[in-house]
Amino acid sequence: MTTDYRKMAKAFFPDAAWIHGDGRYALVAFCRHATVSLHETEESAQEQKKIIDETGCGGFCVNAHKVIDFGKAYSHDYLQSREE
Ligand SMILES: [Zn+2]
Repeated sequence: MTTDYRKMAKAFFPDAAWIHGDGRYALVAFCRHATVSLHETEESAQEQKKIIDETGCGGFCVNAHKVIDFGKAYSHDYLQSREE
């Protein structure tokens, strides 16, 4: 059984404009509308963050970009208890 990180991302960022990908490392941009891209590895998330730090994540970028490790920050039990 695998953790559904997309579901987790949706639970934590219900207002996100979009959620892309899959994986425990979430690159979140809190620029105007939150957008979330999920990555399998931290390296991948940090790499993507470096790119949007330099070029901007969209038309209203205020450089509020953050990598969150869902696997560490929130337990699976916690999410399930939220959903039931
Ligand atoms: Zn941005």
